[in-house]
Amino acid sequence: MVREISVIAIDGPAGAGKSTVSREVAKRLGFMYLDTGAMYRALALAVKKAGIDPQNDKSLASLCKSLNIRFDAAQASPRIFLNGEDVSEHIRTPEIDMLASKISAIAVVRQEMTRLQRAVAEKAGRAVAEGRDMGTVVFPDAKCKFFLTATLEERARRRYEERRQRGEKVDPAQVARELKKRDEQDEKRALAPLKPAEDAVIIDTTQLTIDEVVDKICGMAKPRFAQTQK
Ligand code: C5P
Repeated sequence: MVREISVIAIDGPAGAGKSTVSREVAKRLGFMYLDTGAMYRALALAVKKAGIDPQNDKSLASLCKSLNIRFDAAQASPRIFLNGEDVSEHIRTPEIDMLASKISAIAVVRQEMTRLQRAVAEKAGRAVAEGRDMGTVVFPDAKCKFFLTATLEERARRRYEERRQRGEKVDPAQVARELKKRDEQDEKRALAPLKPAEDAVIIDTTQLTIDEVVDKICGMAKPRFAQTQK
């Protein structure tokens, strides 16, 4: 028997505020925070480390099968472990941004990631699942679906700030170019392209604070999960 799971799906392009918002919504509602982008990133890092050709489906499939990805949300900032190693920082580089986007278009990769993501959510029972295809493909029956957007300028500004605060030397125009390229790749791929589910609530975060977006989502989600909350 399939266990019933409570999922809040939050999708959208890079820099729309998904991660911060999803983390906070999960905290407020006592749900697990499932960062599926981090899973694609961890796989990209594994591909890089193993020196695998991303075009080689066979090698990719066997790498996917042998992958051990684990989350630890107990700490102030959630951590992701790849085969036992904390790779939370290593997966946040421009190179991994693009490699994750590239391999995420491949069928064997999506199949395996979808299977893993469902398994993690099922184990948790209640999850805020963040990504590109949560509402459309991975959790089509999610009770609540949101799609966050913002103008390219604002998303690029946020990404630039993030990088600058991490102490990286960055060029704002370069950040905007990379973001645009990645969005196009994610939107145009044949499999599970970035797009809102038909029943998703679309929130433009350009003019909103994090708290305003979190309030909005929690306000809509809470009543729907009222019966399942303990
Ligand atoms: O969300 P984040 O920027 O960390 O995601 C990295 C990349 O992983 C995205 O650009 C996208 O190509 C891929 N991804 C995906 N499906 C998801 C989550 C992320 O294809 N559900």
